[in-house]
Amino acid sequence: MSATRASDAATADILAIAAHRDDVEQTCGGTLLRMGAHGLRTAILDLTQGEAGTRGTAEDRAREAADAARILGVQWREALDLPDGAIANTLENRVKIVRVLRMLRPRVVILPYWQARHPDHAIVASLGYEACFVSGLAKIDTGAAPHRPFKIIYASLYADVRPSFVVDISPFIEQRHAALMAYRSQYANQTAGAGLFVAEEEIRERTNAEARHYGLLAGVKYGEPFVQKEVGLVDDLTLVPVQSL
Ligand SMILES: [Zn+2]
Repeated sequence: MSATRASDAATADILAIAAHRDDVEQTCGGTLLRMGAHGLRTAILDLTQGEAGTRGTAEDRAREAADAARILGVQWREALDLPDGAIANTLENRVKIVRVLRMLRPRVVILPYWQARHPDHAIVASLGYEACFVSGLAKIDTGAAPHRPFKIIYASLYADVRPSFVVDISPFIEQRHAALMAYRSQYANQTAGAGLFVAEEEIRERTNAEARHYGLLAGVKYGEPFVQKEVGLVDDLTLVPVQSL
């Protein structure tokens, strides 16, 4: 394989990596919409295809994910073939992600928070982090130039943790909801999994209440929370973005 130059392929400013199709819609869809509105190029890498889901098939999920990507305005979205419900942090899986990182060359990568109820979500935090690190190593040869993202942030919506910062998604709350509801096989009312899934009419109320909670922490209407591990570096104290007292 010949080396892929950034100019030969799609590149992205921000790449969200998640275990399952529809994770990104829930945890950082509003943020991707806002970054798109700033003119930044956004992309999504789902690691599984959804074959273990109670509802729908992997083919349904592929179609719905493409619809959701259009609603979220992302330039690029693909799914890898890691086993749904059994994602492992292996060298083989890291290299699969490295190939995408070296093609898209994102400056920022969004990962799920490292503590989660679903084991796939927790493992993607470490798998994604290690892939970003390995991607910068020239000795790991994939035929493309090394690339290490500048910053990794963790989408912490479902974690019981105080966010490092919140992104104001107020203007995008309806669009984000539409992106989630593109997954008709998952969220439309139906008998399969009726005891497991929230009723369709309750989804908006629940997701908006979560967004309202994080919005309130930052003094805006709706927000999405993120955690960053690194300490922030400040040049001008008057430009540090916090809500007013
Ligand atoms: Zn998930």
